[in-house]
Amino acid sequence: MARIVQKFGGTSVADLDRINAVARRVAQTAADGDEVVVVVSAMAGVTDEMVERASTINSLHDAREYDVVVSTGEQVTSGLLALALQHLGVTARSWLGWQIPIRTDGVHGRARILAVETDELEARLARGEVAVVAGFQGLGPDRRVTTLGRGGSDTSAVALAAALKAERCDIFTDVDGIFTTDPRIVARAHKLDRITYEEMLEMASVGAKVLQTRAVGLAMTEGVRLRVLSSFGDGPGTLVVDEDEIVEKQHVSGIAYSRDEAKITLIRVADRPGVAADIFGPLADADINVDMIVQNVSADGKATDLTFTVTESDLDRAILVLGEHKKALGYADLVSDANVVKVSVIGVGMRSHAGVAQCMFRALAEKGINIQVISTSEIKVSVLIAEEYTELAVRSLHAAYGLDAA
Ligand code: ASP
Ligand code: MG
Repeated sequence: MARIVQKFGGTSVADLDRINAVARRVAQTAADGDEVVVVVSAMAGVTDEMVERASTINSLHDAREYDVVVSTGEQVTSGLLALALQHLGVTARSWLGWQIPIRTDGVHGRARILAVETDELEARLARGEVAVVAGFQGLGPDRRVTTLGRGGSDTSAVALAAALKAERCDIFTDVDGIFTTDPRIVARAHKLDRITYEEMLEMASVGAKVLQTRAVGLAMTEGVRLRVLSSFGDGPGTLVVDEDEIVEKQHVSGIAYSRDEAKITLIRVADRPGVAADIFGPLADADINVDMIVQNVSADGKATDLTFTVTESDLDRAILVLGEHKKALGYADLVSDANVVKVSVIGVGMRSHAGVAQCMFRALAEKGINIQVISTSEIKVSVLIAEEYTELAVRSLHAAYGLDAA
């Protein structure tokens, strides 16, 4: 007998037929003798609709009331799934975030989980009751409903699995698992049986949005075994595990890309100590994340160009902020380009193998793709290229690293 958390995303509970299918799957797990805690998302599209309504009725909405509205989708699915389970003869009870409670900080709209109280759940699991928890919701210090940010029910599931010391946290979605790259771009992309937490974090942060990044980070620090699998089939999915559980380490496990990038170049910035702090300080104050950065040495010792990237959605604000500080920063001109994409090769194997970056540069050069900015971490090499080359670059790299399925 094991204790399992099963989380079902929006497409897996999109209508009553799907909810009944989920109920049959949960009932089977319970019948096998496992203790089951189910975490559900809102039905597909419902949260978007709620966000839209809240912003339409009041564009400067109070974050507390926003949370009251957008958290409702999960209440509906938790109740419906409990009813479907009861109809199958399974003892089941729904739980809203505040009833458990899942305690969070007071940052409404993107609250962080502080503690999960499990006494009552434990007692009921021991009696064979299935718990159906509404994901995405918490209880703030002001005793009001909070939500965990978009995609937050993944984090609810991982936090519950950690608090309940579950054997595994299964994340049911509409894809078969984690793929070597986006199958819509590369037909020969294949599903990975295993991936490390770190690789998964990098994949998620550069655009492979199967799991909320925060959920992966939490699973890694709490040592929760994660599995990503489809609720539409019976495949085994992908296990997210520690590095030492992977025997055959590929140099590169996956290729990810993110179109939500924009490049800013400040022309002729003074070459003096403190100038980077002066530029990135105001951006940080405005909550704008800077990702890749390149600065050249100046030829004359006086001025140099500085290039960096921000998300496309932050571009206009970044230009505004830098414009306001133009006098103090003393740059000659600002050029921006939203027509860029970041392509990354990811793999824990590159820690112990040389030449991974070189293989990437050669593959792109052979296709005549110009690299604008490069950044690296221990397990990732990223390049910024023109957006029109996205597909060509991803396909070439997938082949170059031997990831094309046989
Ligand atoms: N329903 C929420 C959303 O759409 C939370 C989730 O599904 O994870 O963002
Ligand atoms: Mg999701």
